[in-house]
Amino acid sequence: MTKVVNHWIDNKIVESKSGRTAPVYDPALGVETKRVALANGAEISAAIASAKKAFPSWSQTSLAKRQAIVFNFRELLNSRKGELAEIITSEHGKVLSDALGEITRGQEVVEFAVGIPHLMKGFYSENVSTGVDVYSTRQALGVVGVISPFNFPAMVPMWFFPIAIAAGNTVILKPSEKDPSASLWMAQLWKDAGLPDGVFNVLQGDKESVDGLLHSPDVEAISFVGSTPIARYIYEECAKTGKRVQSLGGAKNHMLVLPDADLELVADSAINAGFGSAGERCMAISVVVAVEPVADVLIEKIVSRMNKLRTGDGRRGCDMGPLVTREHRDKVAGYIDLATKDGAKVVVDGRGVKADGDANGFWLGPTLLDAVPTTSKVYTEEIFGPVLSIVRVKSYDEGVALINSGAFGNGTAIFTNDGGAARRFQNEIQVGMVGINVPIPVPVAYYSFGGWKNSLFGDTKAHGVEGVHFFTRGKAITSRWLDPSHGGINLGFPQN
Ligand code: NAD
Repeated sequence: MTKVVNHWIDNKIVESKSGRTAPVYDPALGVETKRVALANGAEISAAIASAKKAFPSWSQTSLAKRQAIVFNFRELLNSRKGELAEIITSEHGKVLSDALGEITRGQEVVEFAVGIPHLMKGFYSENVSTGVDVYSTRQALGVVGVISPFNFPAMVPMWFFPIAIAAGNTVILKPSEKDPSASLWMAQLWKDAGLPDGVFNVLQGDKESVDGLLHSPDVEAISFVGSTPIARYIYEECAKTGKRVQSLGGAKNHMLVLPDADLELVADSAINAGFGSAGERCMAISVVVAVEPVADVLIEKIVSRMNKLRTGDGRRGCDMGPLVTREHRDKVAGYIDLATKDGAKVVVDGRGVKADGDANGFWLGPTLLDAVPTTSKVYTEEIFGPVLSIVRVKSYDEGVALINSGAFGNGTAIFTNDGGAARRFQNEIQVGMVGINVPIPVPVAYYSFGGWKNSLFGDTKAHGVEGVHFFTRGKAITSRWLDPSHGGINLGFPQN
């Protein structure tokens, strides 16, 4: 019988009765291994009710107890992350070492959230007026929804739920239906860590579940990560009712290479950032903008490295795994067809790759395109696969203007040995996360993650101080305790 990945409500697995499911594949085998439940209205309501019921008690649980449970979760995660990595590889396809890497980046946010007593501290000003004190505090919001994409089934949820939970909120995670099992493993870990019933719930589903969370008056805030069209929709739906929202969208990340750069480092970085996780990363580099005359030499160095990459089953020590579904693989391959039509040169073609894995796997090898016209959809659209494009420009200024003209603003990098040029770049570039000789500048957990333009809708980024602010509301209290000298009427503002 086919295994069904179900919901997690009230600290236990709840079998779906909706009668609707979607397939979950092992991308390296190319076969359906499970089905995932798609929630109906009753199941959506049950998850929200569970989180709502848990909130009063959890939000009033002492900071010390909440901190201890988050700490327990961190310890369990750290000691058992190999299990989670295997689950991720079996549903997403990324190689095991990369799955472990994603968990480690998520774990950083858990470690940050362990410091919640410090992060939620307010201010206190004594005697702002005679006998009057003002102080501020931050309080949890209530039930919050986290809606995550397929490409990081553990890390992206962990950008949000550790802080949300530590701050006293209760959470409903709606994972991607493409790789839903990691969420249940993490839910069980929370239970083992001592988290009370209803504080962390998992609702499996599709648009119906998402809309259920967006439109429920009992859900106070939404953290979303996914493609730009859906991110925009989430933001607009939340704005209609004034629901708090942070909605992270797609990307098209450029690497600007100046002629004085260390080209060995550039070539290594282009490979790692272009083909890691088969290009299915929102911070992947998809365009190398080469300031001439470096392009030809750089291409040679990149190609020699590409020839050594092993594409195959992520459990066999390969460098790069398959794409997540056959449909996505075909979509990405379609961009290579289009590149040829639009006049680009296919330098390395991944369509014929010989993978170290099952013949039915969703394989597409690393692909390099040169002379990509910036009018082509291959350049303007997010491809989200192992396709790296080279665009040649004449100067630093032309490169910066090109990057700034794009619709996305997630990540970018400059490669140079000129400190002045790097400093100008960090100031002039209109992108939220910038690397200087670093190809994937994902900020550490105590800074905040998020892009500009079509890569983020809403004002608050993920994790770091902005994450703590997103999951809490500030309150300022003005207080006076009467003393015997009090008295008198004064209709104005107190002056002294
Ligand atoms: P997606 O937009 O297809 O799905 C994301 C989530 O939205 C999933 O949970 C999905 O079930 C839900 N969803 C899908 N269609 C919906 C609809 N019509 N209405 C409501 N909800 C819907 O994204 P994906 O393919 O899972 O993930 C890849 C995308 O995510 C890429 O565009 C990538 O750049 C982006 N991403 C961005 C970041 C970032 O930090 N900016 C991080 C990771 C991924």
